[in-house]
Amino acid sequence: MRIWVTPSSELHPVPAGLPEIPERLRWAEDAVRAIGLIVDRPMPEDLDRVDCTEQIAMVHPDGRLDRLREGAVPWRAKIDTPECPISPTTPEAVMAAVQTTIWALRGVLVHGGPAFALVRPPGHHATPRHAMGFCYVNNVAVAAREAQRLGRTRVAILDIDVHHGNGTQDVFYEDAQVFFCSLHEDPRTQYPGTGFAAERGAGAGLGTTLNLPYANGTAGETYLRGLDDTALPALAAHRPDLLLVSAGFDTHEADPLGGFLLSGADFRRMGQGLARWVAARSIPALLVLEGGYDPLCFSDGLRPFLEGWLSLID
Ligand SMILES: [Zn+2]
Repeated sequence: MRIWVTPSSELHPVPAGLPEIPERLRWAEDAVRAIGLIVDRPMPEDLDRVDCTEQIAMVHPDGRLDRLREGAVPWRAKIDTPECPISPTTPEAVMAAVQTTIWALRGVLVHGGPAFALVRPPGHHATPRHAMGFCYVNNVAVAAREAQRLGRTRVAILDIDVHHGNGTQDVFYEDAQVFFCSLHEDPRTQYPGTGFAAERGAGAGLGTTLNLPYANGTAGETYLRGLDDTALPALAAHRPDLLLVSAGFDTHEADPLGGFLLSGADFRRMGQGLARWVAARSIPALLVLEGGYDPLCFSDGLRPFLEGWLSLID
C-alpha cells in the first residue's frame, strides 16, 4: 500500500470551533507510521506538473478555482457557506490536495494499486456549483474524471464516510460509466440531508447510484453486513476497472460529528474485506481521505483498517 500525504495541508488553517483542522493529517500520519508504513510526500516539482485544471472545470463548471481565489481576501474569507472558510493560502492547499490525489491515481494506474491519498481539505460534499461541508473541490470526483480521460470506462466509487457523499453523487448522477455507492447515517438526522435510498441516478445513469442509509447508533455488525452483502456486490455488478474510495473515518464511535458506533475491530474487518474484494478483481484501488474528527478515528480507525488491508495483500 503506497501512502501519499499532501504537502500543503497547513496552508489551510481554520477558525477555532471548526473540526476540520490541520492536525488531522498528523493523526493520520501517526497511524500509518505506527504500523511501519512509509508516508510519501510528492515533490513540489512533481505536483507542479500535475495539471488538472481541466478536470476540475469538468467537475465544477462554476469557475471554482477563480471563485476560491476571489474568496481568499480578508473581507470575504469564505466561499458559499460559513463552514468553508478561506485563508489567503487556502486555494494553494486545495489545489495541492487535488494534485496529490491525481498524483496517487496516476501511480496506481501505471503501477497497479493500492494507494491511499491522505489529503485535506476533504472533497465529497463539494457539488458541481457549491463548496460545502468543509469541502472546496471534490478530490474523488476529479480523480474519476481523470481516470475516464485515461481510458477507464467503468469506475466504481465507494463512499464510507458517515456523511452522504452528496457532491460526488451530484457529479455522476447521470453518468452510466461511474457507479457511486454510499453508506452513511440517515439523512433525516445527519448532514447534509441527502442520500435517501430512492436517490438512484437519472437518465443514462439511472441505477448507477446506490444509497444505503443507516440509523443513528448503527454499530459495526449491521454496517459491515450492508457493505459485504449489498454495497460490494452492487459495485461488482458494475464490473469496475478502478475502485475509488471516499475513505472517511467519522463512522468511528469516538467521532464527535458521526452517530455510528464502529470499533477498531470493525475497521480491521472493513480493511480486510475491501482488500479481498479488490484482489479478487485485480483492479487498481485508490483511497482518498474524507472525514474523521477525533484522534481515535485514526489511531483506532485508519490504523486497524490498514492493518486489516495489509493482512491480505501488500
Ligand atoms: Zn464525514
